[in-house]
Amino acid sequence: MARYTDPVCRLCRREGIKLFLKGERCYTDKCAIERRNYAPGQHGQGRRRKISEYAVQLREKQRLKRMYGLMEKQFRKYFDMAENSKDVTGPALLILLERRFDNMVYRLGMAGSRAEARQLILHRHFMVNGKRVNIPSYLISSGDEITVTERSQKKEVFRKSLELGQRRGLPAWLTVDPEKFAGKIMKLPEREELTMPVNERLIVELYSK
Ligand code: SF4
Repeated sequence: MARYTDPVCRLCRREGIKLFLKGERCYTDKCAIERRNYAPGQHGQGRRRKISEYAVQLREKQRLKRMYGLMEKQFRKYFDMAENSKDVTGPALLILLERRFDNMVYRLGMAGSRAEARQLILHRHFMVNGKRVNIPSYLISSGDEITVTERSQKKEVFRKSLELGQRRGLPAWLTVDPEKFAGKIMKLPEREELTMPVNERLIVELYSK
């Protein structure tokens, strides 16, 4: 599966917001958005041109796509799934993205970022409802339980991540037991509970052109 391999802080600077792609660093004053909150590149600090409606919609889509670390083809697949569902497309898209296994591991505080969660999942460190799952795009359902495998619980990375996760705070729809390295999805989130700064209506408009 193709993935983005260039420096990720550039992506935040391009979008003008923190996308939280680097784990602990994102919460320190070393964050590139704290230091240089302007677009990357030679003309990053140049005069801002008036941007078209299309450009606004495109930026919104890029923002969401980058937040979840997806490439265009994968992102489009989620959009199509949302569009074909019986729910309103924009919120359905956001909830589908939230249901990704790598996102849930990140939200539970078992990894510092979604990218790290993806890596740890591929290395078979997690179980869902007692079964080992190594597919980052696996869709988690309400009531599912995610645990770190017994052997992996000794790894420093999980202790550190859970500590950072506690500081970051846990969304209301999740519970976590750091002693047992286990987290539970109490329910799937409602749109109002997803607080990331994204206007999904603009993304629906973009893909409806
Ligand atoms: Fe984005 Fe994190 Fe880099 Fe800050 S440190 S620019 S939030 S990836």
